[in-house]
Amino acid sequence: MKLIKAIKNPKGYYSALQKLVANFFRARFYKGENVLCEICNWNGAYFFSGKCPKCNSLSRTRLIPFSISFFNLFNEDIKLLHIAPNVNEYNFIKRIISKKSQYDRLNITSANHINIQQDLTSTTLKSNTYDLAISWHVFEHIVEDVKAISEVYRILKPNGKFLLSVPIYPKNNAVTFEDSNILYQDYKKIHGHEDHCRSCGLDYYKRFEAVGFKTKTLRIENLSTHQINRYGLSKSHVVWCFSK
Ligand SMILES: [Zn+2]
Repeated sequence: MKLIKAIKNPKGYYSALQKLVANFFRARFYKGENVLCEICNWNGAYFFSGKCPKCNSLSRTRLIPFSISFFNLFNEDIKLLHIAPNVNEYNFIKRIISKKSQYDRLNITSANHINIQQDLTSTTLKSNTYDLAISWHVFEHIVEDVKAISEVYRILKPNGKFLLSVPIYPKNNAVTFEDSNILYQDYKKIHGHEDHCRSCGLDYYKRFEAVGFKTKTLRIENLSTHQINRYGLSKSHVVWCFSK
């Protein structure tokens, strides 16, 4: 498969190879014990421009393992629905999840690591199925987000958990802002990203509570400096753990 891709796109393959070699040397150059990337288990002196020199993880991605431990969400046998994971997130979960568990990855578009290609606002998944759902920086892209929230609520088991993070924009924004009259070409100017249909605020959890979820909040700025530095987290990030 990789060979076919390489033949079809030699330039892309070459740059991926370059990246791999660069990361290999970087990971050795930044040798140390100060920081830990829980995504790939790399230990080093410091993160390279906020990224892990071995796996390129961003601070927001490294927040997933931290949050799973913080809210104590994994056990030996879980059914997990991962909503639109990127490859790094997928590789990490695959590494830590037990063999007994069920790990489904849903996205509206297809990719090698996706096993359910469906729209989250109207899935065919059975009700009361999953123990845990994870969604990382996805809901700011979903126009009908309340429909998607209701759908996650439906497919979670009673007391099932939904671990979620969205970018808060602008930084520390208190109130979520969106307007369906805003044109797609103005998203970047108004919401800070060309594909974000809203500016999520610190009150975004209220939409989940309106559907029936209970909320627990993790604000990174409240953690110790040691924890923030060790795991390479970003103070501005917020994580919500919702319970059905
Ligand atoms: Zn890493």
